[in-house]
Amino acid sequence: MKKDKIINRRDFIQTGIRTGIGAGLGIIGFGLISRSVEGKTIWQLDPAKCVQCGNCATECVLQASAVKCIHVTDMCGYCDLCSGFFRPGALELTTGAENKLCPTGAIVRTYVEEPYFEYRIIEELCNGCGKCVQNCGAFGNGSLQLQVRQDLCVNCNQCAIARSCPAEAYSRVEPETAYLLKGFEELKITD
Ligand code: SF4
Ligand code: SF4
Ligand code: SF4
Repeated sequence: MKKDKIINRRDFIQTGIRTGIGAGLGIIGFGLISRSVEGKTIWQLDPAKCVQCGNCATECVLQASAVKCIHVTDMCGYCDLCSGFFRPGALELTTGAENKLCPTGAIVRTYVEEPYFEYRIIEELCNGCGKCVQNCGAFGNGSLQLQVRQDLCVNCNQCAIARSCPAEAYSRVEPETAYLLKGFEELKITD
């Protein structure tokens, strides 16, 4: 059995940053699942298996991939030096394009208070390449994760990404478990 991660509320960063489930999860409720999938299973990828090969960005039948980066904000460390945001070897921790890792500028870094920064994904700009996910997993706590956005996916009979996925990370899931977010289910908050 997995051990839950216990976080003391006093250790939390000041109020206003962590908002319950968090913005990254709050926006992916069931209301955003396409009506056409009612009663059917749907495709989702398991972030715990994903090796960020890049196929999620290139193999989807949609012109802009249905796979996007999701930020599990309740897991995030709100780091000054975010390995998902800054490219390795960045000379300065500023938002200059030369310092950013994301090729499309889809991650917004916002100052909260010393030394904390909030990171938000602009979904329309994200192509699902997984570069930020890879670095956050390698050097951070893995709060950036790829997911099939169920409001975008057309639920192909044979998912083209699933066919090409080297990690066998894709499976059909019930609509009730439309999103599979690594680590979130383990996170508990105490008073
Ligand atoms: S194809 Fe599979 S391994 Fe590659 S990025 Fe997508 S889920 Fe991850
Ligand atoms: S690095 Fe790739 S996966 Fe991450 S936000 Fe940018 S486009 Fe999306
Ligand atoms: S089922 Fe189709 S639309 Fe959905 S992620 Fe796979 S290839 Fe893209």
